[in-house]
Parts: sequence; C-alpha cells; structure tokens
Amino acid sequence: MTAQIETHEFQAEARQLLQLMVHSIYSNKDIFLRELISNASDALDKLRLESFRDKSLDVDIDDLHIDLEVDRVARTLTIRDNGIGMSRDEVVGLIGTIAKSGTGELIKKLREAKNADGAAAGELIGQFGVGFYSAFMVADTVTLLTRKAGQTEVTRWSSDGSGTYTVETVTDEPDFGVGTAVTLKLKPEDAEDQLHDYTSESVLREIVRRYSDFVTWPIRLRTEKT
Ligand code: ADP
Ligand code: MG
Repeated sequence: MTAQIETHEFQAEARQLLQLMVHSIYSNKDIFLRELISNASDALDKLRLESFRDKSLDVDIDDLHIDLEVDRVARTLTIRDNGIGMSRDEVVGLIGTIAKSGTGELIKKLREAKNADGAAAGELIGQFGVGFYSAFMVADTVTLLTRKAGQTEVTRWSSDGSGTYTVETVTDEPDFGVGTAVTLKLKPEDAEDQLHDYTSESVLREIVRRYSDFVTWPIRLRTEKT
C-alpha cells in the first residue's frame, strides 16, 4: 500500500499570519516555545479529562509529560507530548485554519507595528496567543506527527510556511504512541546566536523558566551530550 500525500492550501488568514511569522524580525521569537508547550499541556489536560469521561478509552495517564528533544547534528527541536493527539481530519481542520476571533485584527496590528517599530510587534506577539504558527519564527520546516487516543492511524503534517502544507497517513511509524510530536528544523542563522540557539540546553531551560513556569505537567529536556 502506498501512503497518499495530500497537498492543501492554507486558508487566507492563516497564510497572512504565516507570512508574518516566516519573515519575522521580532525580538521575542522565544515565545514559540511557550505556544508549543501550551498546546502540549492542553493536549495532556484533554486526555486526562477524556479518560475519566470515557472509561473504555485504553490509555495510560500515569505518565503524562512533555519532552523537549534536541538533535544537534540535524539541528532539530522536537516538542513531544503523550496527550490526546489528533485525527487526520482534525489536523487539517485545526492546523490549516485559524478559528480564533481577533486574528484579522492581530494581522493588521502586526503589519502596522512592523513598519513602525519591530519591538512593538514583538510585544504584540508576546501578548496575543499566536499559537502553533509561531513555530515558523524559528523553523524553516515544521513537521507534526500525531495519533489520537483510541485510534491507530498516525498522521504526518508538514509545511515550510509558504502557501501549502502536506498531510499523509503514515505507515512507517508503527511504534508511534498516542500524542503529538512537533519537530522544528531550526533556521540556520540562529545557530550563530548564542541567546537564540534552540539546540542549547541552557537556552531552552531559561525560556521554559521564563514563559512556561506555570505548566503543571513535567517538562523533560533531552539533549544528547555531544
Ligand atoms: P489555540 O491553542 O489557541 O487553539 P493553536 O494555533 O496553538 O491555537 O493550536 C490550534 C489547535 O491545534 C489547538 O486548539 C488544538 O486543537 C490543536 N493542537 C495544536 N497542538 C496540539 C497538540 N500538541 N496536541 C493536540 N492538539 C493540538
Ligand atoms: Mg495554542
């Protein structure tokens, strides 16, 4: 069986927000991690809740956590959770569109602020939950692998932040457990910048401390010692 890879276009507002992220010069791009950890934390909350509601759901909720995994050679950062996960349809519906109200207003404000003063745009991004797309401030490519609780299907979503993304049902990840892994192929330019080298354990630790201190789930840092 060959896996079918579908290419989809981002919905208009999503595309505009992505453009702003991809070409961002925002000073506090560090907040991408807050956004991805917050999504992971929500997913863990949802799985716990769902396991109480649906006793037939066969999931393990004794070890819910968030892992940050670094591959220095590949220059990737993966944010992994063993939370609720998403079905293929959910991936397309949730990640390809922006359902949030106020996004149009944010895009407008960001554009104005960017023209006037990059720092103000950075502030805006910090205040407003820009969500998943903020990953494109620091990554050339974002790949998401996910399996929804109660389902066997694993879905891969990938995009370089331009107009399109791909979705496929994968068969090459038979051991992928319930949950979601978001892998960022980090922008090469940040490697030279000690404060924004997201493969550095101390940089990640400091960002987690600053922005995700309130998260109640364990956040584990896994950087290989090389
Ligand atoms: P928000 O978190 O404000 O809804 P995001 O852009 O951060 O907006 O995420 C969009 C949606 O994608 C989330 O509401 C959630 O349904 C889904 N999602 C994102 N990350 C995950 C994840 N790690 N696990 C499960 N669902 C996720
Ligand atoms: Mg979010």
